[in-house]
Amino acid sequence: MDLPHDFQECVRFHGHLCPGLAIGYAAVKAGIERLNPRPSPDEEVVAVVENDSCAVDAVQVLLGCTFGKGNLVFRDWGKQVFTFFDRDGRRAVRVSFVGEVPGREQRHLLRQKIDSGLATDEDHEAWERLRFDVTREIITRPWSDFFEVREVHVDPPPKASVVQTVACEICGEAVAEHRLAPRKDKRVCRDCAGER
Ligand SMILES: [Zn+2]
Ligand SMILES: [Zn+2]
Repeated sequence: MDLPHDFQECVRFHGHLCPGLAIGYAAVKAGIERLNPRPSPDEEVVAVVENDSCAVDAVQVLLGCTFGKGNLVFRDWGKQVFTFFDRDGRRAVRVSFVGEVPGREQRHLLRQKIDSGLATDEDHEAWERLRFDVTREIITRPWSDFFEVREVHVDPPPKASVVQTVACEICGEAVAEHRLAPRKDKRVCRDCAGER
């Protein structure tokens, strides 16, 4: 397939090719271009993502941002918004998806047909072709067609500190103290506290 090599890496990691992944890919390209025109490979970038959709997998692959390293921060705000900054927070860019995913209506109709079990082989082929075309369109069109990019101020996340663990009084499992359920009477984990 005639897609950029680094996008193909994202597809391998993500498990399938989809427009959502393409949005994440393009958001990274748009943001990094603005953040640092000549990115050095060893400079660590922190990403704050405001959704947990397919797009985030592209952020992980392209920027090496992971929960484990603490440079991937999830804000559950349901927005296609990504903020990228260098570790010391000198420069930050906020990238928000303001465009429209191409072919939305067509995909919606095909999806309905497929879900209802009435789709023909041609419909399935059309669905795959459309997904591919839309994906390619998102990653090849100018970023400014889809994203608004602006520099913002951020406070860099605190460096990881030593975590104190305590035993939950109900299940006995060790739990990071600052993640205990907000109860005064007992020190219990959020699972035992019945949080969803
Ligand atoms: Zn996906
Ligand atoms: Zn517990």
